Amino acid sequence: MKKFFSKKKVEIIKILLNKEDFSLDFDMLRDYFKYNPKLLILTNPNNPTGNFLIKSDDFEKIQDFPGIILIDEAYYEFSGLTFLPYIENFPNIIILRTFSKAFSGAGIRLGYLISNPKIVNYLNNFKLPYNVNIFTQIAGEKLIDKWPLLKEKIEVIKEERDRIFEEMKNIKDIVPYPSEANFILFRSRKREEILKSCEEEGVALRDFSKEPLLENCLRVSIGDIKENDVFIKILKEVCYEKGGD
Ligand SMILES: *Cc1c(COP(=O)(O)O)cnc(C)c1O
Repeated sequence: MKKFFSKKKVEIIKILLNKEDFSLDFDMLRDYFKYNPKLLILTNPNNPTGNFLIKSDDFEKIQDFPGIILIDEAYYEFSGLTFLPYIENFPNIIILRTFSKAFSGAGIRLGYLISNPKIVNYLNNFKLPYNVNIFTQIAGEKLIDKWPLLKEKIEVIKEERDRIFEEMKNIKDIVPYPSEANFILFRSRKREEILKSCEEEGVALRDFSKEPLLENCLRVSIGDIKENDVFIKILKEVCYEKGGD
């Protein structure tokens, strides 16, 4: 009989990213290969930092990983970079995608996994019957039908992301980090004032300042042009108030 659940404790090793640009230190990562880890999880682009942890050129640095390489491509529709083609030649790659982000379907709880038949068949052993309920399936189909429209929206968000990034770069006391996703992480010593003003104006930010490496960091999701303008206006007001230049 197959044993589905291991009682063994699973050890999780978290690797801190480089602190200047949140890039992945491949040498440090590779140092762990000798312990024969079972699974490597890479979020690409990463959340909440927005950068790629791995680009196509970096793949050779992890291709001898002894276990399964899981690449979470939750923001793929915004980033445009996928490791999907690698599935053909590497038997140990799993790609994860979601309908929660670019498809605006967070409430329907739908996502998908892409890998080779061997891994997919194996994972099917663990899948509950009807694990994607019928309402979710119908909603998913409707969203897929809306793809041409969604694609246009995604293009606008990408343009806006790049516009907002440039605007933020030019505001005193704001350090935005380049993003491949639909949000921008930024650092500011005016974090508290920014949070307060945004809350008053109905702009929701996520506070990551308690996370490692992310002191004074906030994350803003890219909205439509009007919403983004409101956000930029708030930043300027907070940062140029009293003696700004
Ligand atoms: C949003 C997100 C997901 C997917 O979330 P679900 O809503 O559970 O599908 C996965 N990974 C990352 C990094 C995300 O930001």
